[in-house]
Amino acid sequence: MKNKDEVFKRVISHAKEYGFIFQSSEIYDGLSAVYDYAQMGALLKKNIRDYWWHAMVRLNDNIVGIDAAIFMHPTTWKASGHVDAFNDPLIDNKDSKKRYRADVLVEDYVANKIEAKIDKEIQKAAKRFGADFDQEQFEQTNPRVLGYKEKAATILKRLARSLEDENLEDVKALIEELEIACPLSGSKNWTDVKQFNLMFGTKLGASAETATDLYLRPETAQGIFVNFLNVQKTGRMKIPFGIAQTGKAFRNEIVARQFIFRMREFEQMEMQFFIKPGTQQKWYEHWKSHRLKWHLSLGMGKENYRFHDHEKLAHYADAAADIEFKFPFGFKELEGIHSRTDFDLSSHENYSGKKLQYFDPEENTSYVPYVLETSIGLDRMFLAVYSNSLQEEELEKGTRTVLKLPSVLAPYKVAVLPLLKRDGLPEIAKSIVEDLRFDYDVVYDEKDAVGRRYRRQDAIGTPFCLTVDHQTLEDQTVTIRERDSMNQERVAISSVGEMLRKEVSMSEWLKRL
Ligand code: ATP
Repeated sequence: MKNKDEVFKRVISHAKEYGFIFQSSEIYDGLSAVYDYAQMGALLKKNIRDYWWHAMVRLNDNIVGIDAAIFMHPTTWKASGHVDAFNDPLIDNKDSKKRYRADVLVEDYVANKIEAKIDKEIQKAAKRFGADFDQEQFEQTNPRVLGYKEKAATILKRLARSLEDENLEDVKALIEELEIACPLSGSKNWTDVKQFNLMFGTKLGASAETATDLYLRPETAQGIFVNFLNVQKTGRMKIPFGIAQTGKAFRNEIVARQFIFRMREFEQMEMQFFIKPGTQQKWYEHWKSHRLKWHLSLGMGKENYRFHDHEKLAHYADAAADIEFKFPFGFKELEGIHSRTDFDLSSHENYSGKKLQYFDPEENTSYVPYVLETSIGLDRMFLAVYSNSLQEEELEKGTRTVLKLPSVLAPYKVAVLPLLKRDGLPEIAKSIVEDLRFDYDVVYDEKDAVGRRYRRQDAIGTPFCLTVDHQTLEDQTVTIRERDSMNQERVAISSVGEMLRKEVSMSEWLKRL
């Protein structure tokens, strides 16, 4: 059994080795918490985005999609509350001069000093009991593990309470009581905890005197709110209706070593659903269950998801929950579902002086709609899919690394491999590629022994390999090998298109939603 750190490291190195994710500007030693998607990663990311977009926009008559600009009028961020309240609690170490997120220091302490002990107990017990080991039962009954869990929960509860109450002195007190040292210098010489705004500022305009201060948007939602009435009128939308959008967001996060879980430039997939005031509870439940269903449709294991209901709510919300996913480093937020009331639209009304109301023709009245939001990070979803899919399998002869991606998301749906580089086999293989490439991302590979080529495709998650051999010349059949089972079957070339449509096409997966 590998520990969490090793699993996470493996995910990061595999993502680099196979062309999924590179550090940004690596030749200059990279830029912290900024990453580039490479040739495989860009395809996987696009497929996740499409799967979300089609599920939200194409499959719903009452949801439309937009693509608003990253730059917005600066007053937007006053109205949204980001200028005044979009902060993280930061603390500096006086000796190393390094800056940390105070809450992350405490969370890391819990993960490294307490949860690591739990992992150790589990590993020891797993070794002792062998095949009979029941991890769940062990975790629920072992007194040492229970003691550690209680300690971790007490610390995290206190942290959450202090943050919610904006009691930054207590956050510092907690860091001191736990004797947390700077990971760099080992020093415990800390400054006070201070709030730090996460928005990136920039300037619009040619000269320093006339330039306007702008922000790079920290969320895509506001582009939807400011366009609410334009879309409603031009699209003749009737409440309830939704506006969806995917796009970049920017946050000056103070983080280390979280790979694409927490980035400074990332992509969100958000949908704001405009509803009649008073119906928010119904729609909150509706979107919670619909979004979970979308996740479960990918077949990544029900046990890897859980809801976390927020007790203390953000200034704009009257109910909120996260869908958490079991990442290599534990359960963490993947998506938020927020009942935002009329906070945003009313606030934009106040700041802009423009009415943002819906005229309800049935009731002959106008009102500011309430909003239900679903907000998921595309990069976080990428990490969820990727880390869940990456597996090492013991085979009779050695091990294989396989990326068991949901086939609808796989970068390449099929690889076409001539068994040999002669006798007309490459020509047939290439003609199959030419047939399939209009519908699917297909790859042709003729280099190395076929076994090695299978392994290469396993490692990038290609669900099917088609091998063209001498029998193909005689009867127009190929061998089709399935990634997960490694089963091989002989099929007619003419049946491949239909088989792929059933197994990997977006439309078939969407029909199962
Ligand atoms: P967290 O508590 O993890 O910082 P958040 O509650 O601030 O997240 P939201 O503002 O609700 O996040 O954003 C919605 C979604 O956007 C999150 O559920 C997450 O998937 C994604 N997200 C937020 N911040 C980042 C980031 N820095 N990098 C990657 N994804 C992010």
